[in-house]
Amino acid sequence: MSQACTECHRITSGTTCAVCGSSALSSDWSGYAVIVDPSRSNIAKKLNVNLRGEYALKVR
Ligand SMILES: [Zn+2]
Repeated sequence: MSQACTECHRITSGTTCAVCGSSALSSDWSGYAVIVDPSRSNIAKKLNVNLRGEYALKVR
């Protein structure tokens, strides 16, 4: 089961976040967003995301 990084909201299948390196992952997340073009995405700006990929909208 995928987990989401509590720091940057990146969805990851490993034990640490591939983007920020944080090990603070949570399986309690909701909302799924695929960001293809961060520079044009309002969701990316909202989440403060600079890399393309899969993100959770809410992470608890
Ligand atoms: Zn992260």
